[in-house]
Parts: sequence; C-alpha cells; structure tokens
Amino acid sequence: MRRVTDRIVIIGGDAAGMSAASQALRTAARGGRDVAVTVLERGPWTSYSACGIPYWVAGDVDVAEDLVARTPEEHRANGIDLHMGVEATEIDLGAQVVQTRRVAATGETSGHSTGTAISFDQLVIATGSVPIRPDLPGAYADGIHGLQTLDDGQSLLDALTSARRLERAVVVGAGYIGIEVAEAAQRRGLATTVVDMAEQPMTTLDPDMGALVRTEMEKLGIDLRTSTAVEGFEVGADGWVTGVVTPDGTLPADLVVLGIGVRPNTRLAREAGLPLGETGGLQVDRRQAVVGHDAVWAAGDCVESFHRVSQRPAVVALGTHANKQGRVLGTNLGGGYDTFPGVVGTAITKVHDLEIARTGLGVDEARRAGFDVVSGTVESTTTAGYMPGASPMTVKVVAERGTARMLGAQIVGAGPGSAKRIDACALAVWNEMHADDLAMTDLSYAPPFSPVWDPVQIAARRAAERARTS
Ligand SMILES: Cc1cc2nc3c(=O)[nH]c(=O)nc-3n(C[C@H](O)[C@H](O)[C@H](O)COP(=O)(O)OP(=O)(O)OC[C@H]3O[C@@H](n4cnc5c(N)ncnc54)[C@H](O)[C@@H]3O)c2cc1C
Repeated sequence: MRRVTDRIVIIGGDAAGMSAASQALRTAARGGRDVAVTVLERGPWTSYSACGIPYWVAGDVDVAEDLVARTPEEHRANGIDLHMGVEATEIDLGAQVVQTRRVAATGETSGHSTGTAISFDQLVIATGSVPIRPDLPGAYADGIHGLQTLDDGQSLLDALTSARRLERAVVVGAGYIGIEVAEAAQRRGLATTVVDMAEQPMTTLDPDMGALVRTEMEKLGIDLRTSTAVEGFEVGADGWVTGVVTPDGTLPADLVVLGIGVRPNTRLAREAGLPLGETGGLQVDRRQAVVGHDAVWAAGDCVESFHRVSQRPAVVALGTHANKQGRVLGTNLGGGYDTFPGVVGTAITKVHDLEIARTGLGVDEARRAGFDVVSGTVESTTTAGYMPGASPMTVKVVAERGTARMLGAQIVGAGPGSAKRIDACALAVWNEMHADDLAMTDLSYAPPFSPVWDPVQIAARRAAERARTS
C-alpha cells in the first residue's frame, strides 16, 4: 500500500508553483520519500511563459500553446494531482485546510467539486502578482487590455486581428512590458503612443540612461509622452475606447494596453495572518519558508526577496526568480536542503533593435542604500567600429567611492548584441568584484563581437579611476 508522508498543497500553477511541485516530487523520489502533491490553479493554463506574450502579440510566436512549457496532462503524467479552474478562497492555518471554489469551465475534468476543503501538511503559496488597473473613468471599456495571462494576450490578439479598423494604439506605462507591447503594436501597423507619469521611460534606469531610451524610442517612431498622468478614458457609444484623457488633451486611441506594473498577490496570505514585509510581499526565509510558519512556503512574484547589494528586501516580479525560488522550495519540501541566494536586480528588454538592461543599483538607489558612489559611462559600439552593423551603445557602471566595488551597471544599445553584456556586470556585482577587476577580466574579443576593449570594461575602468581618485 502507498505510504504518504506529506500532503503538499500548492496554490498557483505557473512558474513558481509548478517548479516547486516538480522538484518536490523529484527530490522526494531520490530520497525514497513519498509525498502527495496537489496543485490548485484557477486559470486554464499551467507553466506558461507570460514573458513571451508581447512576442506572440507581435507575431513572432504562432499560437498560445507554443508558450506553454508543460501542459496539465504532462504534469498529471508526472504524478501531480492538478486541479484546473479551481481557486483557493481561504486558508485556515490552524485546521490546515484550504477552501476552494470552481471558477469557470476550463474544458478540464479534475474531479473537483465546488466548495471542497482540501487538507494539507505543507502549504505552498505561489499566487503571483496582480496587475495594477487604474481606478479611472472608463478604465473597463472595451478595447482596453491588461497583459498578464495568456487569455489577456489572446484577447489583445483577437482585437488586433478583428474586422474593426484599428489605427492608433496608446500604451499606458513605459516600463519593460509597456515598451515591449509598443513594439508589438507598431509591428501590427498601429501608430503607437506610450504615456507615463514619470519623467522618463524605464524608471529602473538612471535619468541619463533613461534619456537615451527616450531618444532612441522617438527615432523608432514611438510618440512618447512622459510626465503625463492619465486621467481617464473616453468611450464611444458602442462601449469601445476612443481616447486617453491627459492634462494635455485627449490622445485618440482605437486600442489601449495597460502596463503600469504589478503588486504581489497576497490577499489570501494576508487574510490567513501570514507576515507581509515592508514591500508588500510575503516574508520568507532563505529556504522559502514563510517566516514564523514551518508548514507554509511561498515563492515567485508574491514574495519579497533579499537584495544582495542593498541588503534590503525587494519585490522583483520576474520569471527568472520565480523558477529558481520554486525549485529551491521544492527541494526543501521533498526532504532535501536548498537556499535562494537573493537577487541583484538584473533585467533586460528590447523595443525593436533598441536593447536595454540593468543590474545592481542605480546611483540614487545606491545612495539610498547608504553607499557613497561614483559612476563611469562610455559611448562605444557593439562590434569593432569598422565592422558592418556596428551600432552605438552606452554603458554606465556604478561603483563605491574608495573601494571601487561594483554596485550596478546599465546598458542602452541601439543595435543587437548590446544588452546581454549585462550578464558580465551582473556576475561582477554578484561577486562583489571591484570595477578595475572587471576592466581587466579576460573577456572575449573578435571584431564581429566587440571593440578590442569591450564597452563594459571601459565603463568599469572609468568608474574605478573615479572611485579611487575622488
Ligand atoms: C507581459 C509580461 C512579460 C514578462 N516578461 C518577463 C521577462 O522577459 N523576463 C522575466 O524574468 N519575467 C517576465 N515577466 C514576469 C514573469 O512572467 C513573472 O515574474 C512570473 O510569471 C511569476 O511567476 P509566479 O509563478 O510567481 O506567478 P504567476 O506566473 O503569476 O502565476 C501565479 C498563478 O497563480 C494562480 N493563482 C493566483 N491566485 C490563485 C488562487 N487563489 N487559487 C488558484 N490559483 C491562483 C494564477 O492564475 C497564476 O496562474 C513578464 C510578465 C508579463 C506579464
């Protein structure tokens, strides 16, 4: 007879939740333990790449299914008891029970009936994040889209490919999702405006680097309106959006996409009395156990992570962390031991050929974290300047005054091959290298790939010189 030692219930069936589920089963099997893993997912998809949605909308990816790494059937074949279209509505920590309800028809038969209570020995919260929707007049009109789930992507694609004549798109939010969607809208032939209340696009960059993004976006034909707070949406008689109202007038719009950020989805956890940090994310220890609760775990967008440079908690809603944290959590649940080492805030994006990346702390962030900082910036090219296709790129390195410790770096490049260089900087920041060490590290060189001094190394050298002499 099967001996079940632990009943694990996981809420949320995407990156963090399914990584945890799979890794718990693998680890338990290796250790000869027996665990029963149940996953509750309110939507119709598992293990899907939200990161790929802008490229699907743009036309680079054919169908939603291409963005699904593992289907519910595949997970079930691996031994996971998966309940699709089932939402966790309440957690009772004392009774170790999750209350659930069936959300909608998903075309799946999971044998789960409405209002079932599910008991657990170990609970995992992997509920992700909630997109911020402005509480403004007209915000729920037809033609206004969020972009968090595959269903959101499908609904945007349906609008773009419908018989309705669409000429002008307005994207609200100039963060990475906003600019990726701006590219998609342009490639679908729409005149595209991006509106943001901040003074610059990509506020995760320093203002000087954000200014470069602005210049390049404008060269790409994107109408960028910064320092512009959206006040509402004008809606036609048929209920479809016709404009985005701003203090400078109404921007005509046949289609609006909202990309104004997300916050951790912690309602269930909060109502259960689990601890939230100052960032609004669930507080977890290095094993991803919820602080003060031995039988409750959490991972992904709903938690706060430890920032290795600022030494403070940070919410960084990225798939890269969700997958790693889920794996760490799963190892621990399966009877092994693993820890999540924290984040340094590395991120990368693009709009057409304009590439943007950052890691560590920007100048103001570093100051707020208590560092005295200098920076070094270089304008160079992606390849040797004499090679065909050499494109301009700018690198900024932020270092600690005196020690020259690498604190952060940012890259804006007008051509392919620039942004992924951030990974060398991320490694340097992660390992607390000094900028002069990065400047002399044995990085690769040949004319089609970089100038003889890679731009990253020149920026690091400049930052080091300033750090040691000022
Ligand atoms: C358009 C877009 C582009 C992105 N691009 C990138 C990128 O390029 N690089 C990158 O690193 N990251 C990117 N991200 C972020 C990345 O997708 C997320 O960080 C990642 O999906 C988080 O994984 P998660 O498992 O924590 O949460 P989610 O992926 O949000 O999964 C949470 C799941 O929990 C389910 N759920 C929530 N509440 C309940 C409940 N009460 N009961 C049952 N189920 C529930 C939800 O339906 C959802 O499926 C992008 C995100 C978007 C939206």
